[in-house]
Amino acid sequence: MTTTPVALNLSTPARGARGKPPKHFADLTPAERVAKVVELGEKPLRAKQLATHYFSHLTSDPSAMTDLPASSRDALVEAMFPELLTPARTLRADGGTTVKTLWHLFDGAKVESVLMRYANRSTLCVSSQAGCGMACPFCATGQLGLTRNLSPAEIIEQVRSAARSLAAGEVPGGDTRLSNVVFMGMGEPLANYKTVMATVRALTAPTPEGFGMSARNITVSTVGLAPAMDRLAAEGIPVTLALSLHAPDDELRSELVPMNEKFSVKQVLDSARRYFEATGRRVSIEYALMRDINDQAWRADLLGTELNRRGRGWVHCNPIPLNPTPGSKWTASDPAVEAEFVARLRAHGIPTTVRDTRGSDIDGACGQLAAEED
Ligand code: SF4
Repeated sequence: MTTTPVALNLSTPARGARGKPPKHFADLTPAERVAKVVELGEKPLRAKQLATHYFSHLTSDPSAMTDLPASSRDALVEAMFPELLTPARTLRADGGTTVKTLWHLFDGAKVESVLMRYANRSTLCVSSQAGCGMACPFCATGQLGLTRNLSPAEIIEQVRSAARSLAAGEVPGGDTRLSNVVFMGMGEPLANYKTVMATVRALTAPTPEGFGMSARNITVSTVGLAPAMDRLAAEGIPVTLALSLHAPDDELRSELVPMNEKFSVKQVLDSARRYFEATGRRVSIEYALMRDINDQAWRADLLGTELNRRGRGWVHCNPIPLNPTPGSKWTASDPAVEAEFVARLRAHGIPTTVRDTRGSDIDGACGQLAAEED
């Protein structure tokens, strides 16, 4: 999910049907991995060995797989680990602890991921689609339109690459583990539902079948595809759900988030509440504060009332300061207005945290992922 306007990137591939990415080891279930190695004439146990290299050692380099017969390694890797992502550009900010990577996919489509290291955690923001079809007018990605859905392995490779980089000590602060993944990069995750769920399963499966991450440390965001939110609630994997609301009234929200025409404020808040009931996980309400558009005190009051109407203690509100874009219709709220908005929400008893805008000087903050190369 993204939130600010950026100049359109004319070099982004045109929309339209594209081929499917080649099947990768990370696209397969554990049973499918076994079937595939047997099909390649290898012993079933090779699947587990490969999974250990990939998910625990974070590598698909055949020269590192010394427990496999030398005669098998290259053939297995060639058949099961096609190169899906090529880093095209890497930008660093915040003393090197924020790293934005632009990836080229096999067909020339482009996506970005942003790694943010904090004192007590490391978070990777991943893209789930190349472009996005939701057309939110204030969002850079929304202006690109949808190029295509990513495959599970194309998302998992973003994660593996970041985890490997952290483990190798490439990010200042010493070697560490990747603790959090947020689906808040390019795309609407719930519009690529099956792929996002396959990815979540690979993230949470215990090693060596997956990365062994806690579901609590994974956040799936949505503009409010209400039926998919209900479907997610029924999965039994208690990821954090982040609902990008941006306005508490249908009139404005339909302007900011066109999908609101289909699923209204009432419908998405009701679905969010059901998510809390099913999972016990507090839902994050994301609210990009835009000067003179959605930052009025009465809208904070209305938001507080609408949330409390559905019960107490089930949400956390994250106002997100938009990056200042002087002269643009979509720019940051006045600090005093932002402070008043937050105070009003808190006065309604809504836990509220203004979200960090890490990486804003490299266009890596929310709303700036436009896969620009120039
Ligand atoms: S859904 Fe998110 S990524 Fe897509 S256009 Fe809207 S804000 Fe941008």
